[in-house]
Amino acid sequence: MRLLVLLVLLFCSCSHGAENLYERSFHSMGSTVELKFYSPSEELFHRVVDACVERTKEIDRLFSNYRDDSVLAEVNRNSGVRPVSVPEEFLNLVRISVNYSEITDGAFDITIGSLFELWRAETVAGRLPEKSRIRDVFGCTGFRKIKIDETKSQIFLDGNCVRLDFGAIGKGYAVDEMARIAKKNGITRGLVNFGGNIYAMSSPAGKKFWDVEVRKPGSGNQIISNIDLVNKGVATSGDYERYFEHAGKRYSHIIDPRTGWPAGDVTSVVAVSKTATEADVFSTAVSVLGLPGAQTFVRRNKSLGFLVIGKKGEEKSCFGSYVCP
Ligand code: AMP
Ligand code: MG
Repeated sequence: MRLLVLLVLLFCSCSHGAENLYERSFHSMGSTVELKFYSPSEELFHRVVDACVERTKEIDRLFSNYRDDSVLAEVNRNSGVRPVSVPEEFLNLVRISVNYSEITDGAFDITIGSLFELWRAETVAGRLPEKSRIRDVFGCTGFRKIKIDETKSQIFLDGNCVRLDFGAIGKGYAVDEMARIAKKNGITRGLVNFGGNIYAMSSPAGKKFWDVEVRKPGSGNQIISNIDLVNKGVATSGDYERYFEHAGKRYSHIIDPRTGWPAGDVTSVVAVSKTATEADVFSTAVSVLGLPGAQTFVRRNKSLGFLVIGKKGEEKSCFGSYVCP
C-alpha cells in the first residue's frame, strides 16, 4: 500500500514537472483567439486546440449574425411568422441570455438587434436616426418577446421586427467552451483569450495566479490594468474599437434598451466574474447602467468585480472583487 502511494506521488510530481507551456492563435468571428495551455505533450496541446477551432466554428454556425445560414439567421427571418425548431445548444444560450436580462434589469438584452441595425445603417449613411424611427424600432425590442417552447425545442419571436443579437455574450460563451474542452482533455492550467474576453484556468506551476494584462481595445498595446486571476473570466466593453460615428462624434455600439439610444455614461468597463460568459454580459450591462449599475450588481453577486473608466478617460472606479491598482 505504502509503495502504491509513493508510486502515485512520484507519478504526479513527474507529470507536473513535465508540463510545458504551448501557445497557438487562430482567427474566428472577425477576431483572434489566443490559447496558452500547459500540456504534458505538444501532440495533446495541438489536438485540444484543433478541437477548440472546431468548437468556435460550431458556435459561429449557431449564433453568427454575419451569415445567412446560421440558426440565428433562420430564427430572425421568422420573427412574427412562425416558431423555429432549434438545437438544444441554441435554446440554452437564449435561456441563459433571458435570465441575464432579468438579473441585469433589462440592461443586457439580446433583442437589441433591430435597434443596433438602425443605428448602424443610419450612421453609415451619414445621419442620426430620426426620433420617430427610434420610437418605432423601440417596439421591436424587449426580451419578453422571446417565446420558448421547451417541449418542442422551438423559439418564436413575437413581433415581425424582433432581431436577436448575441454580440454581447457570444465570445465569452465561446471562451468558456474552449476552457471546458481543455479541462475535459486533462489540461487544467491555461489562459484563453478571445479578443479581450478571457478565462484564466488554474495557475502556472509555482504561481498563484495568471497575471492578466487588460488592454484598451483598438489602442494597440495600451494596458488599462493588470489583474491576478485564477479560475475566473474577464471581459472589456468600451467605445474605443467599435462605435457609430456622426459629425465627428462617437456613439457607443452598446444600445441602452431603456431609451433606444447608445449608452453614454462611461468610456469602458472591465468586468471580472466566475465565468467568461458572465463577465461578457456584465461588462455590457454596466456600460449601459454606469456606476450605479456596478454598485448594484456587486451587492447582489459577491463574485463580480468592475473597473469602470469614466467619460473623460482618466477617472477610474473599482467595485466588488476588483481592487483598483
Ligand atoms: P460587448 O462588446 O460585449 O459589450 O457587446 C456589444 C455588442 O452587443 C454590440 O456590438 C451589439 O452587437 C450587442 N449589443 C449592443 N447593446 C446591447 C445590449 N444592451 N444588450 C445586449 N447586447 C447588446
Ligand atoms: Mg459583452
